[in-house]
Amino acid sequence: MQDRISIALVGIGKIARDQHIPSIAEGSDFDLKAAVSRHGKVEGIENHTDFGAFLATRSGIRAVSLCTPPEVRFDMARKAIAAGHDVLMEKPPATTLGEAEALADLAREAGVTLFATWHSRFALGVAPAKAWLADKAIRSISIVWKEDVRRWHPGQAWIWEPGGFGVFDPGINALSILTEIVPGRILVEKASLSFPANRKQPIAADIAMRTLSDAPVSAVFDWRQEGPQTWDITVETDQGTLRLSKGGAELFFDGIENTAGPDREYAGIYERFAALIRARQSDVDFQPLRLVADAFLCAERLEVEAFED
Ligand code: NAP
Repeated sequence: MQDRISIALVGIGKIARDQHIPSIAEGSDFDLKAAVSRHGKVEGIENHTDFGAFLATRSGIRAVSLCTPPEVRFDMARKAIAAGHDVLMEKPPATTLGEAEALADLAREAGVTLFATWHSRFALGVAPAKAWLADKAIRSISIVWKEDVRRWHPGQAWIWEPGGFGVFDPGINALSILTEIVPGRILVEKASLSFPANRKQPIAADIAMRTLSDAPVSAVFDWRQEGPQTWDITVETDQGTLRLSKGGAELFFDGIENTAGPDREYAGIYERFAALIRARQSDVDFQPLRLVADAFLCAERLEVEAFED
C-alpha cells in the first residue's frame, strides 16, 4: 500500500461536509490533517480561520482541496501553488477562463499537481456512456437540468452575485458531462438567460449549441423546479437512444437501464487526485467553463419575476 497523502480542506460548507470529508475518510489515499474556514470547523484535526496564515505555518501538509465558492478560488489556488502544494479545485475552477488558464500555467511552472474537478464526470453512467458513443453518429442532444434552488442552495447568497454563476452552478455539471461523452468540441450558437428583477445572476437559461459534425445540442437549465427534480441528457444516435438521468447516475440504452451501484463521484475524484499527485501530472479541462463563458457572451437577457429565497 502506498503512503497516505496529507491534505487540508478549505471552505467547510455544504459540499465539504456532504462529500469531501466522508470521501477522504472512507478512501485510503489521503489523511485529512487540517481545515481552513472562517466559521466552519472539523473535529479532531487542526483548524485555521485564515488561509494565508495557514500557508505561512509551512505545516508540511502536501495537498490542498479548495471547497470555497469560485469567487475566491483563483486567489487561494495561486497562493497554494506558490507555496508548493498540490491543489484540487471544486467546480467551477474559477470565475473566468483567464483565471483558470493562468492557474494551469502557474501549476505547470511550479511543478505541482492541479486538478480542476468536475464531479458529475465521475457519476456511474458517464464512462460507459462515453465508451458507447465513441463509434456512433450523434443526431441530436437534449439536456434538461431543472432543480429547486431553495432546496439545493439554501442561504447561499454568493451564488446570485457576480462570479456566482446563478443557474450555471448546477448547469455546468451537465456541460461537464456533455464535454466528456461527446468527442470533439461543442459550439454555442445562441442563448437566452432569465434574470429575476432582484438578482444579478440568471435563474434559468436556454442554450442552443451544436457538435462539430453539426448535430444540434439544446440545454434548458431552470432553478424554479419544485416537486420532482430533473437532470437528464438524451442523445439520439444512428444506433439508438442513450439517456443519462439523475445527473449521470443512471444510464439507459433505448429505455433499458444499464447501470447500477452506489454513488462514487467524490470517491472517484479523490482516487484520481491521488493518482495525479503520484504521477506528477495535472488535469485541467476548462471546456465546461468555456461553454458557460460563450453562453454569457452571446446571450440575450430576459428579465423575469423577482425571486426570494
Ligand atoms: P457553501 O455551503 O457556501 O460553502 C462554501 C464555504 O466556503 C462556506 O461555508 C464558507 O466557509 C467558505 N466561503 C464562502 N465565501 C467565502 C469567501 N468569500 N472567502 C473565503 N471563504 C468563503 O457552498 P457549497 O455548496 O459547499 O459550494 C462550494 C463549491 O462547491 C462551489 O463552487 C459549488 O459550485 C461546489 N459544489 C457544491 C455542491 C452542492 O451541492 N452544494 C455540489 C458540488 C459542488 P467559512 O465561512 O467558514 O469560511
